[in-house]
Amino acid sequence: ALTIGIVGLPNVGKSTLFNALTKNQVLAANYPFATIEPNVGVVNLPDPRLEVLAKIFGSERILPAAVSFVDIAGIVRGASEGEGLGNKFLANIREADAIAQVVRGFEDSDVVHVEGAVDPKADMETINTELILADLETLERAIPRYEKELKGKKIDPSVLAAAKEAQEVLQKGTPLSAASVDLEPIRELGLLTAKPFIYVFNVDEAVLTDDAKKAELAALVAPAEAVFLDAKIESELIDLDPEDAAELLASTGQAESGLNQLARIGFDTLGLQTYLTAGPKESRAWTIHKGWKAPQAAGVIHTDFERGFIKAEVISFDDLVATGSVAEARAKGKARMEGKDYVMHDGDVVEFRFNV
Ligand code: GDP
Repeated sequence: ALTIGIVGLPNVGKSTLFNALTKNQVLAANYPFATIEPNVGVVNLPDPRLEVLAKIFGSERILPAAVSFVDIAGIVRGASEGEGLGNKFLANIREADAIAQVVRGFEDSDVVHVEGAVDPKADMETINTELILADLETLERAIPRYEKELKGKKIDPSVLAAAKEAQEVLQKGTPLSAASVDLEPIRELGLLTAKPFIYVFNVDEAVLTDDAKKAELAALVAPAEAVFLDAKIESELIDLDPEDAAELLASTGQAESGLNQLARIGFDTLGLQTYLTAGPKESRAWTIHKGWKAPQAAGVIHTDFERGFIKAEVISFDDLVATGSVAEARAKGKARMEGKDYVMHDGDVVEFRFNV
């Protein structure tokens, strides 16, 4: 499954946020991967289209798509040099597909700030420097190995070249995502600063309702996405029924919970989209990459669907809602038969035809 690794200084609210994510697993209990790892939290991708489909098809249940988050321990200054928690914790996020950095924006004299003061900009610099140093260390270990392997003709010269180019960028203090190095040959290294980033500002209510302050913080991290939430409120929201949760959110000036925002932005940052299936049993969203073709998308349901793919009957969600049923959509020519080269769209309502 695609995962987003959570990083941040100690005491910024990572555990509080992660607890909210973990409690959320109850809602996502239908996902087999959600229960495997204790350090994985899952957020459902909010998708109002599923409720509409469930009505049209009389579905018994709704299964939204989900994004998973991996919790890792906090980074302190010097982490990359083995101080504090050390580099082995950074190893946990090597395999993540994106990184969410939690940044403290809340003031609370009872909660010690490891650097002495609440300063989001300085905190982000500390973390980003540690990630750069961690990548440099990875490369310092990899380059001599690549040199040996190149002599033995075990690797392509492009591997060593990419590693050296990346090292040069990082030595200037630049994260790899901000440079145009082709990292494909050294993908196996899982370099941290090459991953897409989301910034999660853990703030108090005063900031949640202050658009100017939020714009100021968002500008610090642009073009990366910023999510604003109050981790304490998020962990309370999880325990409330929908009406009470909506009321609490409204009282903090929010239309949507921070976890929902995180799911949507996470999904987008990972380059994902969903297509939909519906029937009397369930209305369900399936996660695919943007640009995937029909057979690959079918493979997400079952590998047999991909192997035996014949065609897909596709109705766009909007057409289905406008016509009111599959039969009507067919009668009005809104149900398309698509072949193996069809590129999927977000919100396609699909039925695959396949050989077994
Ligand atoms: P971590 O070290 O990053 O995992 O941070 P924790 O989640 O353990 O939070 C550190 C402390 O800050 C705990 O006492 C939390 O209750 C508190 N805390 C977390 N989020 C908030 C917040 O949004 N507002 C306030 N006032 N306190 C918070």
